[in-house]
Amino acid sequence: MASKSHKNSTTTTTTATAASTMDVEKIFHMNGGVGQTSYYNNSSLQKKGSDKVKHVTLETIEQVYVSTNPRSLGIADLGCSSGPNTLSNIKEIVETVGKTSRHLLLPEPEFRVYLNDLPTNDFNAIFQALPDFYCDLKKERNHAGPSIYVAAYPGTFYGRIFPDNSLHFIYSSYSLHWLSKVPPGLYDAQGEPINKGSIYITERSPPEVSKAYVDQFNVDFSLFLRLRSEELIVGGKMVLIFLGRETPLHIDRGNSFFWELLTQSFSTLISQGDVEEKKLDSYDVHFYAPSKEDVEEAVKREGSFVLERLEMFEIEKEVGDINGGGMKMSYGRRVAMAVRAIQESMMTHHFGGAIVESLFEEYGRLVDQEMAKQEIQPITFGVVLRKI
Ligand code: SAH
Repeated sequence: MASKSHKNSTTTTTTATAASTMDVEKIFHMNGGVGQTSYYNNSSLQKKGSDKVKHVTLETIEQVYVSTNPRSLGIADLGCSSGPNTLSNIKEIVETVGKTSRHLLLPEPEFRVYLNDLPTNDFNAIFQALPDFYCDLKKERNHAGPSIYVAAYPGTFYGRIFPDNSLHFIYSSYSLHWLSKVPPGLYDAQGEPINKGSIYITERSPPEVSKAYVDQFNVDFSLFLRLRSEELIVGGKMVLIFLGRETPLHIDRGNSFFWELLTQSFSTLISQGDVEEKKLDSYDVHFYAPSKEDVEEAVKREGSFVLERLEMFEIEKEVGDINGGGMKMSYGRRVAMAVRAIQESMMTHHFGGAIVESLFEEYGRLVDQEMAKQEIQPITFGVVLRKI
């Protein structure tokens, strides 16, 4: 990570910023394939979250379809990853438009479906699922399925991805809480990390830390909105599902709590001599859970979209759940497996791969221990935006 090279050198903040942008794009990816630690088998919590706002997603695509009635409907999933969630969502979107067109006696459009993620994503895992996806869609319509063209567009969503005015609907779930980079403001003028002993905003963090995160969110989110406004037609809509926080306070009982437990797992490894304290000091996640106000203000300031809806909800805990790989495990272990599938690439790059197993074992144990005392769930936002 940028922080690593930054820490050991006297380079300026500007140099470090550029390096961190590059690093996230090159290194960050969900665990690929379909094995035990893959995102494919550890994304059921995200599925549960997206399912809770599915009615909003489907209502929104229906509105866009009815109001624009195109011959060719352009849909994108940003941060699609390599799990089963992307195609199952697309399937429901396509079916909803199909039903609406039959109901209104309109000709069914052709579907252009664009799957986006970072270039390091395991797109092959999705491509391999495409024959079954096409087959399922056709089966339900007596072999007379819709015309659907699926393509992958690799690249960061903090850059342009699609041609001008080519999309009607953009969907993104559990991706936008990822910033474009580790905020450069987490380092002082000498290149020293200021968030020592924490990997996200914690009670120990100096106030500059939350400011660094908010600043990066503001830059990233408004860039995201501007770029998407160029790609969407007027009247096109976005459904964005991402982690957020309940109040304007930075330390919440949701997301910051889970990062704090991960920091505590590192402390155990440090006390065992498995991780150097300095290594932890220079590690921060490129993540930010915005407040409702953060989102509202950013949308207003940027000006290309109207915020039509913002819903906040929790994903309830399930006890004795089975993960996507058919393994029965405690809630803490499931959370640990989910976070591992997401964070392993970045952590291995910074700390080396040797600690990953024991780190996430400890993390799962801590989550279970804390959950036994108090039930804490991450907060998710479901946001609908219309391009004006
Ligand atoms: N939408 C899927 C996957 C969520 S995991 C689901 O709901 O299950 C988050 C995904 O966002 C990852 O695959 C990650 O690579 C992707 N992502 C994060 N930052 C990104 C960026 N800047 N551009 C494109 N994709 C990004």
